[in-house]
Amino acid sequence: MTPDASDFWFLPLGGCGEIGMNMNLYGHDDQWLMVDCGVTFRDIDGTNRSGYDVQMPDPEFVTERREQLQGLLLTHAHEDHIGAVALLWRRLRCPVYATPFTAEMLRRKLIEHGLEGKVPVHLVEPLDRFHIGVFDVEWIPNTHSIPSPCGLAIRTPVGSVFHTADWKLDPDPVVGHGYDEEVYKQLGEEGMNAMVCDSTCANQPGHSLSEGALYDGLHQHISAATGRVVVACFGSNIARLHTLSKIAHATNRHLGLLGRSLINTASAARASDLWPDVTTLVQSDHLGYLPRETLLLVATGSQGEPRTALNRLSHDSFHDLSLEAGDTVIFSARAIPGNEDQISSLVARLEARGITIITPESSDLPIHASGHPGVEELRKLYDWVNPQLLIPVHGETEHLDAQAELAKACGISRQLNGRNGDLFTIAPSASIRRGVAPTGRLGVGRRSLEKIG
Ligand SMILES: [Zn+2]
Ligand SMILES: [Zn+2]
Repeated sequence: MTPDASDFWFLPLGGCGEIGMNMNLYGHDDQWLMVDCGVTFRDIDGTNRSGYDVQMPDPEFVTERREQLQGLLLTHAHEDHIGAVALLWRRLRCPVYATPFTAEMLRRKLIEHGLEGKVPVHLVEPLDRFHIGVFDVEWIPNTHSIPSPCGLAIRTPVGSVFHTADWKLDPDPVVGHGYDEEVYKQLGEEGMNAMVCDSTCANQPGHSLSEGALYDGLHQHISAATGRVVVACFGSNIARLHTLSKIAHATNRHLGLLGRSLINTASAARASDLWPDVTTLVQSDHLGYLPRETLLLVATGSQGEPRTALNRLSHDSFHDLSLEAGDTVIFSARAIPGNEDQISSLVARLEARGITIITPESSDLPIHASGHPGVEELRKLYDWVNPQLLIPVHGETEHLDAQAELAKACGISRQLNGRNGDLFTIAPSASIRRGVAPTGRLGVGRRSLEKIG
């Protein structure tokens, strides 16, 4: 199965019908391009019964056509978009393209896998436009919940697509580049055949909050606290760390980071000039000696994951620090569906020890912002880009259905609602062929990647 010169195809191998492990292919004129290559931490049924903590799409379809694969484009540095690159690199062996922060995060993973210097990683900047094989690729600056995210305008002589990747419209992303309404509108004036679009929050009304709107709420809780404060958030949210660094300064507290992924992303941000100059971090082994009221700690584990800093604190088994009655834990993150039970147990353990818990639901002012577009933002982007065809991705069935419905209601003439392994034809005409590519998963086993199921 090979696209000819009159075809422009989209073929998702992961991330379509699920949230996680994104892997997308575009095909034209005997060539393929891969967009993102991520992992998931959960089985297909949402459990962890298979025993594989880290899973990814089986790339068999594209590895059988490896000589036709022209490149791998990484839209941003979240695990569900870059987490499988180092794991699958030996099977793909194509050039990789990414903006500097994403490339820095990838570089650290490549080192861990003994691949540094072996993978050709090309640095790109927002609005760069160049050819990769037969594909004309333009990097469109987005805002999201991690620095330097980009969507991609991919053009061929027979059709074009705007692949949004993960996005929101954030007027004040706090760190890194913003988005430019005019750039989206220019895509609309040119006329995109299709838009492949993030569906994560397509069933949520309204507009996502701005990262810049969280200072007041977080400041209020932290300045009112009398003991230690631990803020649980996603390790990759550098903007949230900027906000907390400002609050640490304003409330005379020392900022400390607990958890490997936080320390790693902060270090990647520093290497990419995305770290606030004024921030000095307390070393972990000093934490036990500093007065309680002088500490503001950021911890991984907002989802109750077993091997994270917050979980260890809740069991009082964190090496450098014990929490006590009167300390405060603020959840600056929402529960990802499926994690509710392990989060409730975590909260119960903390509460049993007299620790005050603050969540986005219990806080009057906002203390968390989603990285994905709600209905209002989707409507705006449809209006600006005005594609002929909308393909919802990055969502479970309810999210994909919600976006397909919304696009229809907004007057986009065609929607193609499919799943991993389906072939979406953008040119010569919009259609879908179900189940043309194998869609298994690989799990990280003891020695190698293993087929799951
Ligand atoms: Zn993302
Ligand atoms: Zn994502």
